[in-house]
Amino acid sequence: MKFEIVYKSNRSSARVGKLHTAHGIIDTPNFVAVGTNGTLKSLDNQTVCDIGLQLMFCNTYHLLLQPGSDTVKKAGGLHRYINRPMPIITDSGGFQVFSLMYGSVASELKSKGAKATRSSVLKITEEGVLFRSYRDGKKILLTPESSILAQKDLGADIIIPFDELPPYHLDKQRLKHSLDRTHRWEERSLNCHLKNPNNQAMYAVIHGGVDQNLRQMSCDFLTKLPFDGFAIGGSLGKTKQQLYDLIAFLSSRLPQNKPNHLLGIGDLKSLATLIPFGIDTFDSSYPTKAARHGLLLTKKGGLKINKADHRHQFTPIEPDCLCPTCKSYTIAYLNHLFKSKELTFMSLASIHNLYFMVNYMKEIRNKIFNDEI
Ligand SMILES: [Zn+2]
Repeated sequence: MKFEIVYKSNRSSARVGKLHTAHGIIDTPNFVAVGTNGTLKSLDNQTVCDIGLQLMFCNTYHLLLQPGSDTVKKAGGLHRYINRPMPIITDSGGFQVFSLMYGSVASELKSKGAKATRSSVLKITEEGVLFRSYRDGKKILLTPESSILAQKDLGADIIIPFDELPPYHLDKQRLKHSLDRTHRWEERSLNCHLKNPNNQAMYAVIHGGVDQNLRQMSCDFLTKLPFDGFAIGGSLGKTKQQLYDLIAFLSSRLPQNKPNHLLGIGDLKSLATLIPFGIDTFDSSYPTKAARHGLLLTKKGGLKINKADHRHQFTPIEPDCLCPTCKSYTIAYLNHLFKSKELTFMSLASIHNLYFMVNYMKEIRNKIFNDEI
């Protein structure tokens, strides 16, 4: 992977770049949609490519449990298996395993009919994490090496080292203990990756919670290692302000010639606030989740499709939107589909919201070119 900085703003630390991968170019700053199981809910991957979404995030943890990384490998890798010739990023599985333990995404898993309980994680040692599959009860040991080998089977363009996600409420000493182990795990992940780079790039994950000293230590340790880029992960604070303060602190401490990624944040306010600090990519399930709940993104703000006065609104969501949904369907019809709980609504709404994000990021890049950001 090659990272090319095309333009640096004269107004802020924002920059426009191009990530050259084996499966095409990712223009930055950019939004990365989350397709946990190798799909964005309700959309086939051809449609997602047609919308112009340049990078898709898939979760190793979920793919490991179903269909299994060996199946994906047999199919010729994730790009071929899911029919996405464009770039893909996978995570290490660590985030999901630890979320099961600390419960931050447990409710999300439960809503999918999965049995996620605290007891899913059986043991954490220096070697890795032993957990029980919520699918079939099988015991699985996830280590830095097994996570990287699984990500080799999947074959995404960008991969992530195995890390520990500590809970938000942790005293400094225990957070430091977790950070040290995460650093050892990330180094082991990198060593495993470098034995067979496989045309993949690896981004380190900077940890340390909201503690500036620990974040500084994490930057110091990880930026000395030959990672291709840097992701910002771990606890990002309880409030948006804590997140913004953290990024303000970290942005000047990351190598300027390498790409960076903010994990799990992608709402419009955070994008607008954090791009001036030079953040390159953001992943979030926000636009697709909002779509499924009837919230359509527009230049004037969110449009709630279930409002009664939309019933006779025979115009598209946005008259100047060129997405397939706006070209063919009216707000009135979408309102009807939503009220009738038709699956078609989810597809049409997700298409519009993703198209909105793709164009929003294009506009952001143009604004950087014009020094407006
Ligand atoms: Zn549209």
